[in-house]
Amino acid sequence: MIKKIWDKKLFRQISYFLFIALSILFIWFIGQKVFNFGQLLEAYELKTYDLRATMAAKSRVINPNIVIVSIDDDSLEILQDELGRWPWSREVYSETIHYLEKENVDSVAFDLMFVGNQKGFEDKDLELAKTIGKYDNVYTSMNFDYREDNDKAPELPEKFKINLENKSKNIDFSEFSFTYCRLILDEIIEATQNVGFINFMRDPIDKISRRSPTFFKYKDDYYPYLALKVATDYIKRQEKLKIDKYVINEKNELIIGNRSFPLDENGSIIINWYGSHYTYNYIPFWKVYKSALSLKKGEPPLIAKNFFKDKIAFLGVTAVSLYDIKSTPLSSIYPGVEIQATVLNNILDNKSIQRADKFVDIGISFLLSFLIALVVIKIREPVISSFISIAIVLGYIFWASYLLEHYLLWVGIISQIVFMTATFTAMYIIKYVLKSKDFEYTYKLATTDGLTGLYNHRYFQEKLKENMKKADKNNSNFSLVLIDIDFFKKFNDTYGHQAGDEVLRQVGYTLKKTVKPSDVVARYGGEEMVIILPDADTNSAIIIANRVCKAIAEEKFKLNEGITVNVTISLGIATYSVHGKTSTELVEFADKGLYSAKANGRNQVGQLPDNSNAVMSH
Ligand code: GH3
Ligand code: MG
Ligand code: MG
Repeated sequence: MIKKIWDKKLFRQISYFLFIALSILFIWFIGQKVFNFGQLLEAYELKTYDLRATMAAKSRVINPNIVIVSIDDDSLEILQDELGRWPWSREVYSETIHYLEKENVDSVAFDLMFVGNQKGFEDKDLELAKTIGKYDNVYTSMNFDYREDNDKAPELPEKFKINLENKSKNIDFSEFSFTYCRLILDEIIEATQNVGFINFMRDPIDKISRRSPTFFKYKDDYYPYLALKVATDYIKRQEKLKIDKYVINEKNELIIGNRSFPLDENGSIIINWYGSHYTYNYIPFWKVYKSALSLKKGEPPLIAKNFFKDKIAFLGVTAVSLYDIKSTPLSSIYPGVEIQATVLNNILDNKSIQRADKFVDIGISFLLSFLIALVVIKIREPVISSFISIAIVLGYIFWASYLLEHYLLWVGIISQIVFMTATFTAMYIIKYVLKSKDFEYTYKLATTDGLTGLYNHRYFQEKLKENMKKADKNNSNFSLVLIDIDFFKKFNDTYGHQAGDEVLRQVGYTLKKTVKPSDVVARYGGEEMVIILPDADTNSAIIIANRVCKAIAEEKFKLNEGITVNVTISLGIATYSVHGKTSTELVEFADKGLYSAKANGRNQVGQLPDNSNAVMSH
């Protein structure tokens, strides 16, 4: 039964494939444990992701309601005469806020931290705090830290905390749990509740920022990422939604109003990039500040009226000298404020990236490998099957890129390629082994006799010619023994053809047993058999033939019904090249000997004609 199933080719091939796939998976896990193989592959996976993300970003359109007010190198230079060197006294921000509010901005977010008083300008600090407190749409930032002296870790006011209901079993915020907070000016902390946190995240493998935090844990409470806070309030205002808490559902999604964002196990969002860097609507700070001053003096401002109307103005530094430059998939010199703007944009547009589950990736690997295995097995031409396999790999890469661009889904590429390559190689090797097995089988079919398992007539003729050539070359002899079963017709008549077949089989077996393995035993036809004895001269042939004759006569052949019978044979011999120079002559000569054995009473080796005596003494 098991053999029958195994014989089914497809079943066998699928079993091979499963064996290969599981072996690869096994090697994979071992490799992961021992060599940290996984991290190596992940590093490459991240690289392919970056390429895909960069390509996908080109087709994305930024939200026109976000404007970045950048403190760039130009602003530092242009404003140096009026404001001196960086850091400027903080009245510039107060003026800027007043101007933007007059322009009916939706909100103003500072990706800047107002830490510590500026000596001699304490009054300007106080004024900034007052200005920030005056408007409920101005956001400032703070950040968390890891520090040992936990006793000094400050308490944060209730109003900065957010309400988070985490129903996910997989997400915890341990990666974003901090022990210390770097406070900003007390007056600002008192004046506003609009404080977001701006710790950012780098991938530990290559230090590139691909994700964004959502919430930070500090002293058992949760605090929002600046962009998240700004976005939530914007959604609340624009869509008249009441959002008093954040929910992470069982499917690991962060729910904000009617938007949802897939989170990874640290509770972070995978950022969906737009364009390249400096894609956003950038306006240099100096222009905004000069417009603010002009408007105050009643002069026409540099910036068109209503430019900021209903927009979110994100204010941050992009000047190279101020070092707020990060590495992202799009660029290694990406301004930090643009990361904030991008996360804000992701939330407003409800479009962040989801990374496929590990098991989905493994499933895809299995499926693709199965496809590759099928191609290797089914397609005969190795060149074509290689081409198709490469096409499958390229097709998959294309599909994965398409998924990221249009469905915001990040499926793995590297592990799949490794899996496919391994399967391709293994299946190729297996195919080769199977092929050689197939060949063996066909060869056996072509050279053996089905009933007796002896070589067939054709093979005998080939071997005969081969031996003649060899003998010619080495100037040596070899002999043939032709065998015919005695009274076999009668045997068939008595016991039936089936029994006759059985005896034929057993005679063949006995013959093989009686001679050396290097001797060729073949079925000549009907109940006649022939043995080639390489290197045997006539004398040794006579000895061997007699031994064979005796062995058959003494053997008890068992028939199916439990009956045993005796059978005898008659034999004739011929030696090359003494008794013939062609195969026909040789067989004819042996046949004559066989005839004489029959005539002499059977169960014996036929006498050689007198004229060959000379040979016998040779
Ligand atoms: P003898 O050789 O001793 O002169 O008598 P014989 O009866 O064997 O005569 P002969 O060699 O002429 O007959 C061959 C018989 O062998 C004819 C046929 O019935 C039988 N035979 C040939 N091939 C097979 C076979 O494959 N199976 C069976 N059962 N019988 C076969
Ligand atoms: Mg015969
Ligand atoms: Mg016979």
